[in-house]
This record gives sequence, structure tokens and C-alpha cells, in this order.
Amino acid sequence: MSKRDYYDVLGVSKSASEGEIKKAYRKMAMKYHPDRNPDDKDAENKFKEASEAYEILSDAQKRATYDQFGHAGLEGHGGGRGGGFGGFGDIFEDLFGGGFGGRRGPRPGADLQYELEITLEQAVNGSKIDIKIPTKEICDACDGTGAQSSADVTTCPTCGGAGQVRMQQGFFAVNTTCPNCHGSGKIIKNPCKKCHGEGYTHGHKTLSVSIPAGVDTGDRIRLQGEGEAGELGAPKGDLYVRIHVKKHAVFQREGNNLYCQIPLGFAMAALGGSLDVPTLGGKANLKIPAGTQSGQRFKLSGKGVKSVRSSVMGDLVVQVHIETPVKLTERQKALLEEFDASLRGKDYPQHSPKEHGWLDSVKKFFTGEDSAKDDSKDGPWN
Ligand SMILES: [Zn+2]
Ligand SMILES: [Zn+2]
Repeated sequence: MSKRDYYDVLGVSKSASEGEIKKAYRKMAMKYHPDRNPDDKDAENKFKEASEAYEILSDAQKRATYDQFGHAGLEGHGGGRGGGFGGFGDIFEDLFGGGFGGRRGPRPGADLQYELEITLEQAVNGSKIDIKIPTKEICDACDGTGAQSSADVTTCPTCGGAGQVRMQQGFFAVNTTCPNCHGSGKIIKNPCKKCHGEGYTHGHKTLSVSIPAGVDTGDRIRLQGEGEAGELGAPKGDLYVRIHVKKHAVFQREGNNLYCQIPLGFAMAALGGSLDVPTLGGKANLKIPAGTQSGQRFKLSGKGVKSVRSSVMGDLVVQVHIETPVKLTERQKALLEEFDASLRGKDYPQHSPKEHGWLDSVKKFFTGEDSAKDDSKDGPWN
């Protein structure tokens, strides 16, 4: 494989100065960089060729060897530091301060997460909600370099552009962020006036988020490319909208089911009847059978929620709590006493099976018929 002359590759004369060589390479690197020419094999080859030429010609010793012996003189060195494409990263970072291209590649933008609080109705029925999010875009005044011109960017002399320095502490060597450049690997002489050297501009934008019907707390909606800007040539991050469903005044949700608690007058509980109960879609009628007890649950099929991940409609579970009447009038008290007396006839066990059963076991307990008798002498009632 015959190689082109390195001076021809960079388009400089044999007597070119270090500065001329650097300038020529920078121009070619910018033009043929893979980030700017995706899927262009020809550009990639030109970029590799120029990088290799620069690597040799920017090193005084290698350049002298090359001048004397040509390509053959360098063969023992493997033709370059890294032996090909992988090796140019260091040089490239020397030139551009590591923020662009190189072995690591431009850093993609960070993903963002937005915590969105919505009502149960919005979660169940779906909705469109506008959210205002902070934006971080590459500064258009400096193309993200943070400098007024590319000549203002130099490699940090402390860390050599790595952004990290190695500290020896006893037996341990640790890498820490470079104190001189704070990890960027570059020093900017004249910072860009628009972004003050950061390379990014900050603002806000409003996004309309479509909430699919059936979402629940903890679900995340991904908005591709709405995250932070990456370094030049790298993709933007994504925005994740995380759903929090607010506590509802009437309903609790568990999976596909809705739960609600309803107070029930004790006359209706005893006599039976029908009751309007709320559902998310309006009112529904619930039949209360005679003899309903406090805490009893009734299921209204299909009145729950459809999950975002399934087509099965959940149920509404209504739990009734019998309300003991309060602040009774003399007349009401008299009626209740009369009613109570009527219960305590010979049919008493039939009207109040629970109370009767309970009183029966208490009686057995005190008369010693109960098996727990021996334990009772240390109990609270002895
Ligand atoms: Zn540094
Ligand atoms: Zn700027």
C-alpha cells in the first residue's frame, strides 16, 4: 500500500513551519471530521490520512526521520502513536481542547426528568398539559466553544487537556478534576460575550405533553430529543415526564380498581334500599340489601380504570360505613328505646346474631367454660 506524501496530504511545503502545519491540519480536520460527515467513507479516509500526517509532521523527531527516510523510516514506529484511527484522539484534543471529537466522541446531552402532578381525572381520561421546561442550547455565537474565536481556546497546561490530574497520596494515586480548568481541559482567553464562556445558553420553553389515558403515579413519558443539548455534533438528551397523581377527595386507585367509602344511614342498612354513588363517569345506582353491615363492600363492575398497558376495565369498589345517628331529639330517643326493647324479646338472637354470639362467649369466659381460663389469673381483670 503506497502512502501519499505527508506534506502533500496537508497541502504544505517541505519547509512549512510548525504553525503552518497545525493550521493546515486544523482546516482539514474541521472539513473532514466524521461528526460533520456522517457515513462518508471518503471523508473519513481523508481525516485519517490528515491526522496521521499531522502526527508525524508535528513531532520534530518523527518529522526529521520522515524527511530523511520517507515512509519507510517510520515503519518501525508502527506509523503512528495509536497505529491508525484510534490514535489521533490525543492530537485532536491538543488542537481543539477535547470538547470536540477525539477518542471519547462528543458527549450527548443529559436526560432531564420533569415531575408532573395531575389529577385522577386527567390520569384516567388522558389529557394534554403544557409544561414549561428549562432549556440548554449550544451557544450560536461561539458554536459551543465558549470563546470569541477558536484562537482563544488553548489546551490547559496543567492537565494537558485531560481535565483530570493524577495526585499521588502515599501508595494511592487518584485522579481528580483539574483545578486550573475545572475539568474542561481547555483555557479560554477571551470568553464568548453571549454565553460568558459556558458554550451554552439557557432559557425556557413550553412543551405540550400528551398524557395517555390510564397512566398512574410513577409512569414516565419519554419525549425524545427534548433534553439538554449535547456537545457539538452529539445528540440531545431526552426529557422524561414522571407522573404523580394527586390525592382525590373521593376515590383511591389501586391498579385498575377504584375504591371509595360511603357513609350509610343505619335505617337503610337495616331495611335495604338504593343509593346514588359517584363514579368518575357520573353517578351510578347501588342496591343496598337489607341487613347490610358496616364495612361491607360492593363491587360496581367496569366502573374503575383502564390501565395504560391493558384494555381491561377495572371495577369500582364501594365500602359502606354505617353512621350512628347523633344529637337525637327526645322523640327520636324514645323511638329508638322502643325499637331496642322490641329487639330484646325471645327473637333477640335472630335479630342481633353477632352481639348475641359475642355475649355468649364472654359469659363462657367468666364462668370458666372457656379454655383460656387458666391464663386469666394474671390478666387485667383478676
Ligand atoms: Zn486542566
Ligand atoms: Zn457563546
